[in-house]
Amino acid sequence: MTLIFTPLGIRGIFGSGMDAEVAMKISNLFGHRLGTGSIVVVGRDTRPSGEVLEHAVISGLNSAGVDVLNVGIAPTPTIEWAVDRYQADGGVIISASHNPPEWNALKLIGKRGVLLHPDEMEELKQEFFSGRLRNVPWSDIGRVESIDVIGEYIEDLLNFVNADRIREAELKAVLDVNGGAGAYVTPYIFEALGVKVNTINSAPGIFVRGMEPKPDTLEDLSKIVPAIGFDVGFAHDADADRLTVVTEMGDVMTEDISLALVVDYILERRGGGTLVVNIASSKMFDDIARKRGAKIYRTPVGEAYVAHKMIELNATVGGEGSCGGVILPEFHLGRDGPLAASIIMEIISSKGRSISEIIYELPKYHMIRENFKIERSWDEIKEELLSLAERRGMALDLTDGVKMSDMESWALVRPSKTEPKIRVLVESEDIEVARELLSEIRRVLV
Ligand code: MG
Repeated sequence: MTLIFTPLGIRGIFGSGMDAEVAMKISNLFGHRLGTGSIVVVGRDTRPSGEVLEHAVISGLNSAGVDVLNVGIAPTPTIEWAVDRYQADGGVIISASHNPPEWNALKLIGKRGVLLHPDEMEELKQEFFSGRLRNVPWSDIGRVESIDVIGEYIEDLLNFVNADRIREAELKAVLDVNGGAGAYVTPYIFEALGVKVNTINSAPGIFVRGMEPKPDTLEDLSKIVPAIGFDVGFAHDADADRLTVVTEMGDVMTEDISLALVVDYILERRGGGTLVVNIASSKMFDDIARKRGAKIYRTPVGEAYVAHKMIELNATVGGEGSCGGVILPEFHLGRDGPLAASIIMEIISSKGRSISEIIYELPKYHMIRENFKIERSWDEIKEELLSLAERRGMALDLTDGVKMSDMESWALVRPSKTEPKIRVLVESEDIEVARELLSEIRRVLV
């Protein structure tokens, strides 16, 4: 039985940590914090356990006196957008994002569609383990109304991008939505943008490939795009806040590339600004910020940290390079896969060049990722990492885990917030330097 409270949400395997009782209690306590008469948007991805949890979440909120706008199946960004658009007091998103299908999770959203601040999540965690359901008197019980927001979200997004320019370019794209909520949104946006679309793995709730859209799960997409001569391929995770790009040649890009493309384009068009990324995002973002005359800030890993920093700084653009999550506050304050895909179509149309030519102009680094099982205490590992950094004369940053860097390379070692793993990222312009640093870190971890 595992129930993990993270700054991103509360997650567990359905029936073994996460279940209707847990979902009802969390939603009830969240609703109680918002107060009687508040309005909360509820939505979910396509996981089989989603419907059961949806009933429980609504029940928990209603019994706290909260009214619910139930949007049903929709991408996470669409639900976040709806919280903002309907001026709701909060949102509950039922999605375990990129975790395996047996997992599910609740993401709690505050006003303006922003994930709750990690400090608030911590308070809720304390209440969850110590408190009981907070029922309002029978006469104050909240109501539920089902609404369809997908059409409005799509319309808003079509107004946000340069739709005419994309239509003129007559582009062709393959989408791999992997049975996720993106199936209900991204293909329709592309059709409205005059893009010829071929959607694969589109049956909702049937997860054909691995849940994370990355090179080792996107073999089909990488073969189909060049085989049928399309301009680009895109892949989402189950709740479509993530986006991975596949070039016309079938090369699967690392997740950083999606964010880099959008950041570079937006900062260029705005003539600079403020960029916020997490500490695990590539060094290429420093290069892009410098080139475009923008300021760059880094936060711990997690959408909540990035989004709250973006509000604080009134940032232009931001996101999490490590998972291809793009945040454009002018549209809304959450990572948005369909938006990122549409902007990349605008970039291809505006530049009049192939996606691989456009990506070729981005700064180039080699990033290696590796996950390790946690075999010893983090404190013990941390001490050894600190002395490794000292031995190598590398600068330290302890914003989230241990980050060590010098002129040639950097590495980030941190315990995962969503899984019982240690995540390691190493990056350098020189692949051999990156490999050498990784092998030193590996010696500490295994
Ligand atoms: Mg996701």
